[in-house]
Amino acid sequence: MTQFAHLVIGFDLDMTLIDSRPGVANTFEALNRLLGTSIPGDELSEQLGPTLETVLADYFPPEEIDGVCDHFRSIYADLGPKGSSLLPGALEAFEAVEAAGGKNLVITAKFEPNAHRCLDAVGLKAAHVVGWRHGPAKADALIEHSALAYVGDTPPDMHAALVAGITAIGVATGPWSATELMGEGANFVMASLLEFPERLNALLSS
Ligand SMILES: [Mg+2]
Repeated sequence: MTQFAHLVIGFDLDMTLIDSRPGVANTFEALNRLLGTSIPGDELSEQLGPTLETVLADYFPPEEIDGVCDHFRSIYADLGPKGSSLLPGALEAFEAVEAAGGKNLVITAKFEPNAHRCLDAVGLKAAHVVGWRHGPAKADALIEHSALAYVGDTPPDMHAALVAGITAIGVATGPWSATELMGEGANFVMASLLEFPERLNALLSS
């Protein structure tokens, strides 16, 4: 196979590489027990994408957000990795990039140490992990690492790729459908990462 010395592919984490819903729902449940709140964790875990600060702004006054986020992140450090599993084709997608001589870059809104914990728990090894990035902030990391494409499951992921001027690859394993992601500017959308190795080959030979 042709080797590409400077090939970097960016991937979102939640619902792109891993199904993190059980870990998120369990963390909200523990947070509710700790604070006596009734945040609908199951519901929120079905809408992963926005930052934790944004999500919690619906349930707490502004001055409490930072403290609650700290609680969430410390609980998630334990429950998050335990409640994460590989999405179909994630391992094969990483291997396809490496087989072409490239590097895998994970860019996520998740707190970076917790992103590492989740990746370790499912056995995915990325060359670079950039945490705490959402929407346009993901574009900066894509540009910084000269990524060729960004793979993600949400409209902000597609926008980040477009802002960075690179190929926006949607994967319909999260809350958004293929049609919706195409409407948000995706160059193409896969049903799952199982399609990625073939798509990568097409991208590299174009
Ligand atoms: Mg995601």
